[in-house]
Amino acid sequence: MRIVLLGPPGAGKGTYASYFKKKYCIPHISTGDIFRAEIAKNTELGRRIKEYIEKGLLVPDEIVIEVVKQRLSQPDCEKGFILDGFPRTIAQAKALDKITKIDAAIHLYVPMEVAVDRLSNRYICPKCGRIYNLKFMPPKNDLVCDDDGTPLIRRKDDEPEVIRKRYEIYYQTFQPIIDFYKEKDILIEFDNTVGSEVGIPMLEKILIEKNILKIEPCNPSVSIQ
Ligand code: AMP
Repeated sequence: MRIVLLGPPGAGKGTYASYFKKKYCIPHISTGDIFRAEIAKNTELGRRIKEYIEKGLLVPDEIVIEVVKQRLSQPDCEKGFILDGFPRTIAQAKALDKITKIDAAIHLYVPMEVAVDRLSNRYICPKCGRIYNLKFMPPKNDLVCDDDGTPLIRRKDDEPEVIRKRYEIYYQTFQPIIDFYKEKDILIEFDNTVGSEVGIPMLEKILIEKNILKIEPCNPSVSIQ
């Protein structure tokens, strides 16, 4: 199950990736997360990429491609992986083709105003990363995590106007990538307006029917969070 996960802010990528990661024990690889961790650890790579990230620029292709190549060669990627935030350029997409075979690119999408409604109600546990929505999936107790009791936080960029801007920028960057996988005939378009609780089992069924999801679950009874 070698997947590229595409989708604008608010489509539910985090919830989907977390479900498949836990149920099938395959890694969720986000290049943005890798870069932030390298910067936090002040590694040589972190020092090389810090300026690009702080200025909101793309990290040069050769650096990103090398990082992904190394990550995909780790043993935990043998059964599959979910790539998130990569590829972001056509050069990266072509390089990925040479590194490994991708089974499907999933474009998880919702209309812009659905994204705005979801994200402006989104709260996150800073400790375990669990995502809540005050409308659809509220925490049991007032603004603290059900799992570890940590006070929940709201991201600064989850304001409606900022969300609209992030949504537009997403497609400016990723539309060529979506088109690239459409041309290769491995694009799956999935509308998540129904919400993750309904959408995840539907997508899982599609992936099994298309013979993309062939591995057995390592944790069959994972709940959708
Ligand atoms: P993200 O969390 O995916 O929004 O990524 C945060 C930042 O990391 C981006 O604004 C870029 O500076 C950098 N980055 C992440 N993935 C890539 C990529 N595939 N190519 C170039 N830069 C990237």
